[in-house]
Amino acid sequence: MPGTATSMQVVTRIADLRAAIEAARAGGARVGFVPTMGALHAGHLSLVERSKQDSQCTVMSIFVNPLQFGPRDDFARYPRPVEADEKLALGAGVDILFRPDAGEMYPGPRNVTVAAGALGSEWEGRSRPGHFDGVLTVVAKLFNIVQPDCAVFGRKDLQQAALVKAMARDLDMTVAIIVASIVREADGLAMSSRNRYLDSDERRRALTLSRALGCVRLLFAAGERDTATLEAAGRRVLALEPEIAVDYFAVVDPGTFGRSKQVDAHFAAIVAARLGKTRLIDNATIGEND
Ligand code: AMP
Repeated sequence: MPGTATSMQVVTRIADLRAAIEAARAGGARVGFVPTMGALHAGHLSLVERSKQDSQCTVMSIFVNPLQFGPRDDFARYPRPVEADEKLALGAGVDILFRPDAGEMYPGPRNVTVAAGALGSEWEGRSRPGHFDGVLTVVAKLFNIVQPDCAVFGRKDLQQAALVKAMARDLDMTVAIIVASIVREADGLAMSSRNRYLDSDERRRALTLSRALGCVRLLFAAGERDTATLEAAGRRVLALEPEIAVDYFAVVDPGTFGRSKQVDAHFAAIVAARLGKTRLIDNATIGEND
């Protein structure tokens, strides 16, 4: 287990968090921030490791943000393993763990929110209307509370990472946004808190997502540059498992999430699909290592 922390402060109140961070800053620490919804796995812990490379005090938040869940999403059943998460955060070297409840984050009626705009209305945004407004609103609030020097996000949520970068740029936030690689299981499945919903059949079928991405990478390596051909090949792999309901499979520019007729190495294949009640997403750069 990476990290050497022997103590971690756990706070639930914004005022207590601010005081703890102020104390760390008074000692000269740069502050790194890792926002999560908990149900921690090695992907989350890799973000902590990355934060510790750039800062002397790492703050992790665990907050299942109601604002980013739609009425048909899994807010109620989202896993909340409080004690296991605390142990993992401590082991990874988190200095301050912030786990507010919804009343602390949203004490009264809400008027002002962040709008994700056009970049937030495609792909994930189209499948989950309002999702990215909810994400950006809570991330903006957390940035204002923590005031981190850097914040680490996972490439696993590629569109989210692009939107957080866009928000920081467009709203003149000074925090440096770091995007860390996807951590995968040994067989290629991208780690996700939602993987624990999968039964053994679904777990096996879920591998088809990373296989479809891998197929696009192979074709690109073999010289294929035509978007439609690459996308058709990925979709054919997904179609091998008819029980998988594909939401989207596309090859896009990872900055704009737009498509073009021809691609180059930095484009990304993106996928979202449902296995039973569980919705999974994954992506891969088609011609570079993450
Ligand atoms: P979540 O708890 O799902 O909201 O994720 C919190 C952060 O962890 C986000 O920045 C995610 O992109 C990141 N993350 C989730 N899964 C992975 C993974 N497999 N590898 C790297 N980062 C991840």
